[in-house]
Amino acid sequence: MLQQTQVSTVIAYYNEWLRRFPDFVSLARASENDVLHAWQGLGYYARARNLQATATTVVDRYRGRLPRSVEQMQQLPGIGKYTAHAVASFAFDQPLPIVEANTARVLTRLFDFPESIDSDRGRQTLWQYAARLVPKSNASIYNSALIDLGALVCVARQPKCGICPVKTFCRAKNPQALPVRKSRPRTKRLTEQHAFVVRQGKILLEQSSTWWRGMWILPPLQRESANQRPVYKSIFPFTDHRVTLSVYARHRVKIRNPLRSWVRIDSLDSIPMPSPHRKALRHLLSERVIER
Ligand code: SF4
Repeated sequence: MLQQTQVSTVIAYYNEWLRRFPDFVSLARASENDVLHAWQGLGYYARARNLQATATTVVDRYRGRLPRSVEQMQQLPGIGKYTAHAVASFAFDQPLPIVEANTARVLTRLFDFPESIDSDRGRQTLWQYAARLVPKSNASIYNSALIDLGALVCVARQPKCGICPVKTFCRAKNPQALPVRKSRPRTKRLTEQHAFVVRQGKILLEQSSTWWRGMWILPPLQRESANQRPVYKSIFPFTDHRVTLSVYARHRVKIRNPLRSWVRIDSLDSIPMPSPHRKALRHLLSERVIER
C-alpha cells in the first residue's frame, strides 16, 4: 500500500482493509469486486489481485499460515525478495537484510558504492553488503533503524551528516551523488477518450479488461471526436505515462457489449472505479451535463 503513497493516506486504507479481510481465509473468499473496491484510490491494482492470489495459495497450500521461509514466501504471487525479507525480519525477527529506497541510499553512502543500483550486478552486490551488517538478534529493530536513518537523516538531497550517528563509519565522499541510478525512461504521452451516457438515473459503464482490469470505467470511444468539445478533461500519471482523459457527452453508444452495464447512480459508491474515472463522474454528475 505504501508504494508511491504516503503513510498518512495509507493508514485509513490499511485499517479498512483489515476490517474487511482480517485473515487469509476472508481475503481468499472475497469477490474480486470487493477486493478492488477496498483498494480503489491506491493505484497499482495488480498488488490487490496478488494479495488475494497469495491469500488463496496460503489457505490451499499452507493451511492458512504464511510460511516462514523466504524461499517459500517468494513463490507466492507478488512477493519478491524485498517483501519476503521485510516480512521475515519484522514478523518473524529473522536476521535478514532489507534493501529498499531508504536503506539503499544509506548503504550506498556508507560503502561509497559506485555501481548503479538499477543494474542486476549493482543490486546483487548491495544485497551482499547489506547482509554483512545485519545483527544475529533484533534484526527487526536494526532494519527499522536503518529505514528511519534513511528517511530522517541520510535524506536524498541534503543528508544531515553533522548529526548522523554512523558518520564515523561512513565512506561517502560526495553523498548527494549517491546512489548511482540509470537515467529514467522518458514519460510517454497518451490520450484516452470516453463516453458519458446517462439515462433514467443510470449511467453506462464498462468493466475494464485492460489497465484497470475488473474495475468499472466510462466506456471507451473508438472514434476520434475531433468536432466536439469534451465535457470533462483531466491529466493523470500512470506508471511512466502521462494520460490525457477526455470525456464526451453521448446520447447513444454501442451497448451490445458484454462488459457494459447500466449502473444506478445512487449505487456508484459500492463498485470499484479507478480514481481518474471516479473524479470525472463526480464532476459530471454535479454539473448535470446531461439530464438524468
Ligand atoms: S554520514 Fe552523511 S552520508 Fe553518511 S550515512 Fe550519515 S547522513 Fe548518510
